[in-house]
Amino acid sequence: MSTDRSANMPIGASTAPVPDLWKGAHRDDRSRPRSRQRLLGPSSIGLCRRRAAYELHGTWPTDLDDNMHAAILGTWLHEGILRVLAEQYGAHTELELTDGVILGHADAYWTPSGQVPGVVEDVKTKSTRALDLVVRQGPRRHELFQVHLYAHLLRTGGLTNHPHLPTGKPLEADVVRIRYVGREYGQVVVHQQAYDEDVTRQALAWAEDVLDSQEPEAMPRDLDGPGLSVICDNCPFRSTCWQLDSLADDGRAPQTILAEDTAAITEALSAYADAAEIESAAKKRKAKARKMLDAADAGTYGAFRLSWSGGNPRPPEPDAEAMIRVLEGLGVDIPMRSGGRTSRTIGVSRVPEAG
Ligand code: SF4
Repeated sequence: MSTDRSANMPIGASTAPVPDLWKGAHRDDRSRPRSRQRLLGPSSIGLCRRRAAYELHGTWPTDLDDNMHAAILGTWLHEGILRVLAEQYGAHTELELTDGVILGHADAYWTPSGQVPGVVEDVKTKSTRALDLVVRQGPRRHELFQVHLYAHLLRTGGLTNHPHLPTGKPLEADVVRIRYVGREYGQVVVHQQAYDEDVTRQALAWAEDVLDSQEPEAMPRDLDGPGLSVICDNCPFRSTCWQLDSLADDGRAPQTILAEDTAAITEALSAYADAAEIESAAKKRKAKARKMLDAADAGTYGAFRLSWSGGNPRPPEPDAEAMIRVLEGLGVDIPMRSGGRTSRTIGVSRVPEAG
């Protein structure tokens, strides 16, 4: 917000340059070494094999957005949270861990003390919507992989360069914790569990696949692409991955590059037909359930909560048909604008089996 207070300001105050916070913040963010690391980072394991391979092979990111304000706010918040955990709760923070092929920084670690086991913690800042998802569905697979890999590296002597803890020696980490903090209101959701060797095994197998890759393009795109996956929308490699530059002019969806031959088109048709059948059956079930609930009061029923919103009168809105009648009555030409195009509708049906 800017207000004109020049009348009250000393000479020069209104023209003194205001440093551009976000320009500087983006410069600062880009200069962080993490985006150019050649070893695999635990935070990339379990998410998308092609993205992890781009990082591993040192591909220069094509899409460093200038609007990653939420991510940068998250980084700043993260730094403050780690400082509090260290200063108030005695955590060892930002521990560099590596086994020579995986390199990461565990957010916080507490050595065992008395009855309390060694704990490794990963802090994640999230939007309220993303936090709701965590509450409903629990941590995502890659988040569990990440914190288990930190524990694994601690347990196998992966700590390097630490002023207080012994380096190169196994450290006890029997509990893993993910602390989610809401970026808007500071809500905290904690997931804590015993270290699970099996999760680490899965994470290492996933990583192995990427470490064996000759080039990023040999790895599958594990996510659905721009417009369909938020992770792809924010991926620093999305233009390279989805050849966005060559698609820029003709308005085609990036996913069209996946339909490269008859087999791929047939596969997409099969997925479409299957999904349409499931969707149609689900819509019918949902419509019947909705009608049944029409007169039910808001409240908690078993494991479900019912609430109602809306149903309020809308303010009056212009009546286009009446306006046309008035203009026609006055003999005035009706203003027109381009109607654009009708939306393209796809038709997919199964070909009846011969015979
Ligand atoms: S754009 Fe999506 S599919 Fe491609 S590398 Fe990034 S995350 Fe993976």
